[in-house]
Amino acid sequence: MSETRRVHAPGRVNLIGEHTDYTGGLVFPMAIDRGTTFTYTATADSIELTSGDVAGRVNIGVPFTGSAANVNPEWGTYVAAMAAELGVTTGLRGHLVSNIPAGAGLSSSAALECAVGLALGFDGTPLELAQAAQRAEHAATGVPTGIMDQLSIAAGVAGHATLIDCHSLEVTPHLIPDDIDIVVKFIVHRRLVGSAYADRVAECARAEADIGPLRLASPDDIVRVTDPIAQRRARHVVAENLRVIQFATELAAGNYVAAGQIMVDGHASLRDDFDTSTDEMDAAVSALNALPGVFGTRMTGGGFGGCIVAICEPGSVADGWVVKPSAGAHHIA
Ligand code: ADP
Ligand code: MG
Repeated sequence: MSETRRVHAPGRVNLIGEHTDYTGGLVFPMAIDRGTTFTYTATADSIELTSGDVAGRVNIGVPFTGSAANVNPEWGTYVAAMAAELGVTTGLRGHLVSNIPAGAGLSSSAALECAVGLALGFDGTPLELAQAAQRAEHAATGVPTGIMDQLSIAAGVAGHATLIDCHSLEVTPHLIPDDIDIVVKFIVHRRLVGSAYADRVAECARAEADIGPLRLASPDDIVRVTDPIAQRRARHVVAENLRVIQFATELAAGNYVAAGQIMVDGHASLRDDFDTSTDEMDAAVSALNALPGVFGTRMTGGGFGGCIVAICEPGSVADGWVVKPSAGAHHIA
């Protein structure tokens, strides 16, 4: 019998830098101590998987040559796309369990892709794993998502968040101080958002057609975006890139009130300019912001539901997950 092996891929929470990755901007996510663990044995010619969280059994042949997007159950699309992306010729049988909610902005899909990739024998760099997983996500979903989710999960560093330049793909670890809590609160599963996400990507591209790359634009350039919706989207992205730098600086200096205010500003920008929040998410953010000891809260992830994230004095939020900055996807010895 083949040996039983395990891999783990963390989820991630994005602290600031939302909807900036697909224009090559800046993001500040952190791999967390919740994620997806996959136990498996190698087999000859198929991939057979079950999940403790989602119904259905994935059973696909290898090498996988079909259309990943047509695989059933639906979560098998990510598995098939990753197998196709890596061109694997041997299979595995396994079971995965996760303690991040799927479809809630903590990147369960990227955790699934990275876990499957490692289990299927991927042995390149974290960046290469992230790029393969991003291509797999595109093949599986058809949604033109950026690199943040996969790269923050593949390249996570224990004790640190990662400032990622999504143009150069440089990943810079930033120490997370231990005198604050980072709290994640799951609010609601996201509604169907693939088309809205693709709309935002297109709207940003429209702004770039007027003023060039948003990652290089300044707030003064925004008035030259002719379409009013694209102008609001651009205003969010340009300000959000600046917020990433400011947030990293304030956090490192121990200025938690200022860092929290940047998160609050980021949320307002997602709500008013990027139109990815909802009344329910706004209410949850306001409620958390009103608690004593909370420095700042924002919606995290693609939007239209999902989770909120706060930084606060230790112990100030009782009903949320205090998440710890954790290592990236890895084999478990
Ligand atoms: P997010 O990545 O923010 O959690 P997505 O909509 O991108 O949300 O991905 C969620 C999808 O990923 C699920 O609908 C499911 O298809 C797949 N998935 C994630 N985690 C698991 C899991 N543990 N088991 C099976 N499928 C999973
Ligand atoms: Mg996802």
